[in-house]
Amino acid sequence: TAPERLRNFCIIAHIDHGKSTLADRMLQITGIVDARAMRAQYLDRMDIERERGITIKSQAVRMPWTPQTSTAPGRVGQAYALNMIDTPGHVDFTYEVSRSLAACEGAVLLVDAAQGIEAQTLANLYLAMENDLAIVPVLNKIDLPAAQPERYAEELAGLVGGDPADVLRVSGKTGVGVEALLDRIVDVVPAPVGDPDAPARAMIFDSVYDTYRGVVTYVRVVDGVLRPRERIAMMSTRAQHDLLEIGVSSPEPTPSEGLGVGEVGYLITGVKDVRQSRVGDTVTSASKPASEPVGAYEDPKPMVFSGLFPIDGSDYPLLRDALDKLKLNDAALAYEPETSVALGFGFRCGFLGLLHLEITRDRLEREFGLDLISTAPSVVYEVTLDDGREVTVTNPSEYPSGKVSEVREPVVKATVLTPADYIGTVMELCQQRRGELQGMDYLSEDRVEMRYRLPMAEIVFDFFDALKSRTRGYASFDYDVDGDQAADLVKVDILLQGEQVDAFSAIVHKDKAYAYGVMMASKLRELIPRQQFEVPVQAAIGARVIARETVRAIRKDVLAKCYGGDITRKRKLLEKQKEGKKRMKMVGRVEVPQEAFIAALSTD
Ligand code: GDP
Ligand code: MG
Repeated sequence: TAPERLRNFCIIAHIDHGKSTLADRMLQITGIVDARAMRAQYLDRMDIERERGITIKSQAVRMPWTPQTSTAPGRVGQAYALNMIDTPGHVDFTYEVSRSLAACEGAVLLVDAAQGIEAQTLANLYLAMENDLAIVPVLNKIDLPAAQPERYAEELAGLVGGDPADVLRVSGKTGVGVEALLDRIVDVVPAPVGDPDAPARAMIFDSVYDTYRGVVTYVRVVDGVLRPRERIAMMSTRAQHDLLEIGVSSPEPTPSEGLGVGEVGYLITGVKDVRQSRVGDTVTSASKPASEPVGAYEDPKPMVFSGLFPIDGSDYPLLRDALDKLKLNDAALAYEPETSVALGFGFRCGFLGLLHLEITRDRLEREFGLDLISTAPSVVYEVTLDDGREVTVTNPSEYPSGKVSEVREPVVKATVLTPADYIGTVMELCQQRRGELQGMDYLSEDRVEMRYRLPMAEIVFDFFDALKSRTRGYASFDYDVDGDQAADLVKVDILLQGEQVDAFSAIVHKDKAYAYGVMMASKLRELIPRQQFEVPVQAAIGARVIARETVRAIRKDVLAKCYGGDITRKRKLLEKQKEGKKRMKMVGRVEVPQEAFIAALSTD
């Protein structure tokens, strides 16, 4: 297809504003999926995506469209090809979102007509603007009785510029207005521009592992042409592969004789490892390579770390295999073996964010039947020792014991959108979390955008839940990583009878160390069964004890119960006691059931 007849666009929206539903309706209206084959969220292929109702991996589909109402001359009745690139909506996957946006010339900015603009609407809009995309503002769900199209059309026009009357109103559910939207896309989104005679360059915006076909790589061609059977090269690694198949998804994969300027499609090389085909990298021809890649390639960097341990220690090899398999589809997942006194053998895993952690853990349990315990999530700290050495700490139990001159923690730029009534509540929460207010704007009379700089460690745990419950669900929140800062941080250790329990060490702000210590010590006192001797539970910063509780001793003489000479009964009791001990972990001389550790690690 000639570039003049192509349009590449994505849909950006806050979660639940109806992106997937609208995408489904477009597939149906353009005739590439018929109503019978249609199942909800056709593009969200993974079960877990469908269940959680979120899009994790992006997909691209090509749809034929012939506009009927175009206002520009010469367009009505002409055949166009629209490439819709579905983007993950969540902040954890911002890098993938930004690569998907870079593959488009335009974005449909979708807003729920009963909700108005939310934090992710803004975050995604800013990303789209950074990529110079044409914006098509659209109100969705106008079929809802609670929809307030007039009010939110004004809000949306105020945000992107233009007349409220030009904001389209659609319902992805009923299909109302969707044809007009497709026409508008042809009119507003520019045709792709590139040099057809230059050496081939295509940007990778997604790659997924498929059991039958190996790695499937989604690309957007910028210059030149890519043809089947040709030899291609990855510009970041110089690795070469044979192009076994190239084609477009419509929505099922359809091989083609080549992809030219502006076209979006997939390629297959028989490679089995997604790391060979990395999002952001540029594909070129091996025989006639381009000199410059399409954009800078960035490695996805894990921001949140947590230990994952099988509850049943014999599942360790299974966990390792499962992580290897997930890694095939998820280049951002990092892991290495870790041993814990409390939890045994497991893996220290790195994630893009908390949602990424949850999804990975969910998939491990669901797809691989594993029972897992995860330790409290931790961010990455840069620690400078007095002797000038620098250490990167992703596991609190590995915090250096020498004298520390500085600790740096990651910081995020956060946007909170809230009804004006809750400004005070939000300020209070952000202050408790060591946030600094950077600015505040009224989007309308009663909706406010508040911008904060917050330590990442203060939001990874339960910030979102706290925000939601304090604002009765009305506030929304999004964040972007924004460098790091020095902070007054200390490591708090938890000791049982003087022995450190690694899984409970935490790096916390000095002002919160005491509260953390007291909380953990009292939790453990409740959970640890009495032993033959007294067990002190202490929280300490270095050698200084900041909290102490005691598990009092009992005399647990099981044999005292069986007076008389029944020796077999005695033996049975002793056997039983031994059984029980198997699931016990020894911390020094103290026996702790694994359940106690697990309970102590669970939040709330
Ligand atoms: P996404 O998170 O943006 O992909 O949103 P979904 O497409 O998964 O939709 C979220 C919820 O809104 C689902 O329960 C949909 O059924 C519902 N929904 C989506 N579009 C419409 C619409 O036009 N009208 C109504 N009434 N509900 C909709
Ligand atoms: Mg979705």
